[in-house]
Amino acid sequence: MTKRPASCLDAFEADAISVDTARQIITDTITPISASETVPIRESLKRYLATDIISPINVPPHTNSAMDGYALAGNDLPTNTAIDYKIAGTSFAGIPSTQTYQSGTVVRIMTGGVMPAGTDTVIPQELVEKLDDQTIRLEPEHKAGQNVRHPGEDLAIGKKVFEKGRKLSAADIGILASLGLGQIDVLARPKVAFFSTGDELRSIGENLKEGEIYDSNRYTLFAMLKNLNTEIIDLGVIPDTEEAIEKAFTQAAAESDIFISTGGVSVGEADYIKPTLKKLGETHFWKVAMKPGRPLTYGTLNHNKRQTKFFGLPGNPVAVMVTFLQFVQPAIHYLASGKQEKSITLKAIAKETIKKRPGRTEYIRGIFEQTPEGEFIVRRTGKQGSGILMSMSLANCFIHLNADSNGVNEGDTVEIQVFEGLI
Ligand code: AMP
Ligand code: MG
Repeated sequence: MTKRPASCLDAFEADAISVDTARQIITDTITPISASETVPIRESLKRYLATDIISPINVPPHTNSAMDGYALAGNDLPTNTAIDYKIAGTSFAGIPSTQTYQSGTVVRIMTGGVMPAGTDTVIPQELVEKLDDQTIRLEPEHKAGQNVRHPGEDLAIGKKVFEKGRKLSAADIGILASLGLGQIDVLARPKVAFFSTGDELRSIGENLKEGEIYDSNRYTLFAMLKNLNTEIIDLGVIPDTEEAIEKAFTQAAAESDIFISTGGVSVGEADYIKPTLKKLGETHFWKVAMKPGRPLTYGTLNHNKRQTKFFGLPGNPVAVMVTFLQFVQPAIHYLASGKQEKSITLKAIAKETIKKRPGRTEYIRGIFEQTPEGEFIVRRTGKQGSGILMSMSLANCFIHLNADSNGVNEGDTVEIQVFEGLI
């Protein structure tokens, strides 16, 4: 490459920080939420536990059968020849046997039925020869202690079941129910405010005049925030004036833990985001060596001794989604849980050549699939302009090219970040 003067189109910019440095600055400057609230477990999906959960009971609480069959003492099992047994009683789930177990007999038992005192073995009904209503025959092929579940086998009393900060899943909620816990303490949800900037933006329902477009960023942001279980505050479209932007900043800082703007972070004449952050708060960074999403501002505003974090995302719809997913989403996760998110990546074979110059990280919208041989292959969605939101709609992954990558040849292995679970 021939040397030429630096321009704002250069991939490498001395004042742009790396993606990793930006992520580090974000976690270093965020204090995770400590406020908590008590909620019914049905409302706890995707919420973060505010305390450890210690099992108050044994699950299962009593020794019970894992099969439909016949319970008896293991000592009474036949050893050499078949033995006939009288059916002396029943133990069904929730209706335990009332008789005392007698050696030499069996108790008809159903899955979940309490093992009668003196029995320790269940023979599944399929392995039993039924002679009549009262009698069964067992062959000498069974082992003592089979098909029985023991108290606390699933969860033992006094044991830590879940750790503070855990994000609750459907299975977790089932476990809480099995412990008899109807409500639990979870961390307060982050309050996230956002607004769009741009005089060209119209809201749905308005007519478009020449040069105007519908605001889509507020809708993608809303959907991504909803996915994260945050309290959402939509502050609407803010005109490109210093006063209006300052007012939006002040309102957002008062109402939210994190607020997000889109647009107005370039160096255009009507770009008031950076100067407003400088005036009202502290700027941590304002440019990241990445594509799309280079003009990305991050800072802190203080309001009544409380801190609010601010993300000034670019205006282009794809850049909004990329910067949200790479920075704002991990920030919200850390704020909400106190834990750092580990993003899952896969290796895939590039099915086409991708040009790139070293200097910045690129998030290319890709479509990956698994071949019948089990290999992952990936290609681009097509046009990659940061205004082409269809590239995000069509994509099912980002092709993640590190800052030092100088492009990809067809057949090279690349790292992909799969959207499943991400958006
Ligand atoms: P800006 O960063 O404000 O210069 O915006 C960059 C580009 O993104 C411009 O073409 C804007 O029209 C477009 N844009 C900004 N905000 C939005 C929005 N909320 N919805 C759709 N497009 C937007
Ligand atoms: Mg603008």
